[in-house]
Amino acid sequence: MPRPLEALIHLDALQHNLARARECAPDARIWAVIKANGYGHGVKRVFEGLRAADGFALLDIAEAQKLRDLDWRGPILLLEGVFDARDLEWCSRLGLWHVVHNDDQIDWLAQHKTEWPHRVFLKMNTGMNRLGFKPHAFRNAWARLSALHQVEEVSLITHFSDADSPRGIAHQAEVFHTHTADLSGERSLCNSAATLRHAHDAAIRGDWVRPGVMLYGASPDYPEHDAHHWRLQPAMTLRSKLIGIQHLQAGDTVGYGSRYTARHDLRIGVVACGYADGYPRHAPDGTPVLVDGVRVPIVGRVSMDMITVDLSAVPSAGMGSEVTLWGRGPTVQGQTTELQIDDVAQHCGTIGYELMCALSQRVPVQVIDVHHP
Ligand SMILES: *Cc1c(COP(=O)(O)O)cnc(C)c1O
Repeated sequence: MPRPLEALIHLDALQHNLARARECAPDARIWAVIKANGYGHGVKRVFEGLRAADGFALLDIAEAQKLRDLDWRGPILLLEGVFDARDLEWCSRLGLWHVVHNDDQIDWLAQHKTEWPHRVFLKMNTGMNRLGFKPHAFRNAWARLSALHQVEEVSLITHFSDADSPRGIAHQAEVFHTHTADLSGERSLCNSAATLRHAHDAAIRGDWVRPGVMLYGASPDYPEHDAHHWRLQPAMTLRSKLIGIQHLQAGDTVGYGSRYTARHDLRIGVVACGYADGYPRHAPDGTPVLVDGVRVPIVGRVSMDMITVDLSAVPSAGMGSEVTLWGRGPTVQGQTTELQIDDVAQHCGTIGYELMCALSQRVPVQVIDVHHP
């Protein structure tokens, strides 16, 4: 029997979450953001669940090639644009749309020989200060691009730094609108947080929204709002089993470095999942795990292949009991159980995004296309 750890990818959840993005931005088109191997879920697998998107946004030409190999003929957008002049040949060959965020990329386009003029998204730096032209330089870049015979259409894009938090988007949206008011072209502004929180405003919604993490069922503004609040469903379940039980007496310790000391007699469950599987090594004591659908705390350090949990809350648990590290749990007394990836992430001082992206290669993945595996 293989090691009992596995990841499940729920296609119905991907479909549902995509429909939620449409509800939030009804007349906009959707770039399903599938960078980082579909946020750790696998490009091919998420493609199955997200085919109803209007386009796919990602970073690597290799990932774009995968989509074309899967026979996706629709739009693909390179969110960081091309990294050198030769990438433009791939854009021509694969019909990729690309972000243009600096002058080099315009120079390369101007030199590029192609029969197929490109669709580009010109990026304005409205305050994030990572990629993009400063507002005062934007018009000039737009004019340069628009004049190139290599360019078919110029769209306008920006990215929000605080869509998930109190600072919000108004200051950046204002800069964007002020400096683009008289420029033609489609607009794209919203990531997941802005799609969920601000896309009811047509000026913010624009022509294309760019949801990422919400499609995978995590909340972009946890803990202010969780996935239930946004009516999102987890697209990934990481589950395993108990492969060992230990009985501790007061004073006994668990695992490397003896981080945890039992204060009274205690049953410990040993779970087949560790940091080599992508589980965060820095998970502190108290990080939640479900055993047979019951929430229990991690005790002791996460090791490469195992974690240890306190079974006090679930005395019936034993060898082979089902363990949910995150995602959908088993049905218990007619109730479906769930452990939100954002909840686990928060205990570990990170965000759901990082945990899902870190799922390791060695974890076998099963695609589930109906509700309830
Ligand atoms: C990653 C990314 C997104 C999606 O962000 P989420 O927070 O996952 O929705 C949107 N736009 C750009 C430019 C990105 O890099």
